[in-house]
Amino acid sequence: MRKIFLPFHRASIGRGEINEVADSLKSGWLTTGPRVKVFEEKFKKFVGAKYALAVNSCTAALHLGLAAIGLKAGDEVIVPTMTFTATAEVVTYFGAMPVFADCDPDTLLITADEIKKRITARTKAVIPVHYGGQSCDIDAILAVARKHNLKVIWDAAHALPTIYKGKLVGAFPDVTCFSFYATKTITTGEGGAAVTDKEVYYEKMKILSMHGMDRNIWKRYTKEGSWYYEILAPGFKYNMTDMAASLGIVQLRKCTNFHKKRKKIAGIYTKAFKNSAVFTPLSVNQPQNHSWHLFVVKLNPEKISIDRDQFIEELKNRNIGTGVHFIPLHLQPYWKKNYNLKEKKYPNTTKAYQQIVSLPIFPDMTEKDANDVIKAAQDIAKKYGQ
Ligand SMILES: *Cc1c(COP(=O)(O)O)cnc(C)c1O
Repeated sequence: MRKIFLPFHRASIGRGEINEVADSLKSGWLTTGPRVKVFEEKFKKFVGAKYALAVNSCTAALHLGLAAIGLKAGDEVIVPTMTFTATAEVVTYFGAMPVFADCDPDTLLITADEIKKRITARTKAVIPVHYGGQSCDIDAILAVARKHNLKVIWDAAHALPTIYKGKLVGAFPDVTCFSFYATKTITTGEGGAAVTDKEVYYEKMKILSMHGMDRNIWKRYTKEGSWYYEILAPGFKYNMTDMAASLGIVQLRKCTNFHKKRKKIAGIYTKAFKNSAVFTPLSVNQPQNHSWHLFVVKLNPEKISIDRDQFIEELKNRNIGTGVHFIPLHLQPYWKKNYNLKEKKYPNTTKAYQQIVSLPIFPDMTEKDANDVIKAAQDIAKKYGQ
C-alpha cells in the first residue's frame, strides 16, 4: 500500500511561474495592467476566439456572459443539474430562473434533447457544461438553440484544452467561459476568462467587469492615460490582477504539455478498467480531444457490496484521495427547496450521483501513482466484490 497520501489534485507550479509573479511584483504593477493584456492576447489565440476577457473567476465570466446577451428578470436559462452551483447561481443574479436539465447516463453531459424538453416561451439561454473536460455535442446544441432563438453561454471550466470537430471549444458562439481556479487544468490561483467572436459582447463584458467604466481605464495611471473616466453602467469588480496573469501566461505555455501528461494518466486508467465488472469509466467519444480535467468511474452496485461513500473511505484508508463531481444541484438544499426539484425528474443524474468517483489526475502524477490508484481500487473490489 502507498505510504504517502496521493491527493486528488495538485497544481503544477514551477520556477517559471514563481519568477514571473516576482517580476510582476517588482514591476510595481499589481492589479490589471500589461500582463493581463499579454495573457488575454495569448489566450484568445490559443482557443481561437476573436476576443478574450480575463477576469477573477469563471463565475464572473458566466455572469458577464449572461449580461452580454441581455438576460432579464423573469427569463429562463437551462442549466444541467450535474454541475457546480456557479453554473446556476449566476442566473439568479438577474432575477432570472435556472431551469434544470438531466444528463446523458454514459457521459453525464447535457444533450440537445434534454434542452429541447425544457424550452418554454421564456427561455432565453442555455449554459451547457463540458463536463469533466469532454465536449458536449456543440452542433446539436447550437442547432436547437438557434431554432428557438436562444443564446448559448458555454461553461468550459473543465475544458481547456478540449477540441470539438477540430477547434477548441472556445471557438464556438456565443460566449465561452473558462476557469483558472486552483484545481483546474491551468491556474491563476483564482481566475477565469470569457471569450467570444462578437465585439459587442466583448465590449459590454469588458466595461461591466470594471465598475462600468469606459474601456482602457487601466491605463489611467500611465503617461498615456488620463485621470478622466466615465461610468457607463453599474458594473462589477471582476478584473484579473497582473499577479494572477503572470501565473496564467506561464501556465498557458505549459497547457499542451500538461494535457499530454493528463492523457497518459487517463490512458492508464482506461486500460486498467476496460474489462472490469465493478468499475465503468464514463463513455468517451474522442479520447484525444478530451481535456481530462476529471477521470470519473462509476461503481456497479450489483458487483460490489459497499456503496460509493464507503468506497471513497476505503480508498482514503489506502492513501488515495478522490472527489465527487458533482453533488447534483437538484439534491442541494437551496435549489431543491426553492425550485421544488424532484429526484424523479432527473433520473440519470440521480442514479449517476450514487455511483461516481473522480480519481486523482494531474500533470505531475507518475505512472506509479496511477498504478497505486488502480491497485487500491482492485484490492477494494476483491475484498467487497460479489
Ligand atoms: C470550477 C467550476 C466553475 C467555477 O469556476 P470559478 O473559477 O471557481 O468561478 C464553474 N463551473 C464548473 C463546472 C466548475 O467546475
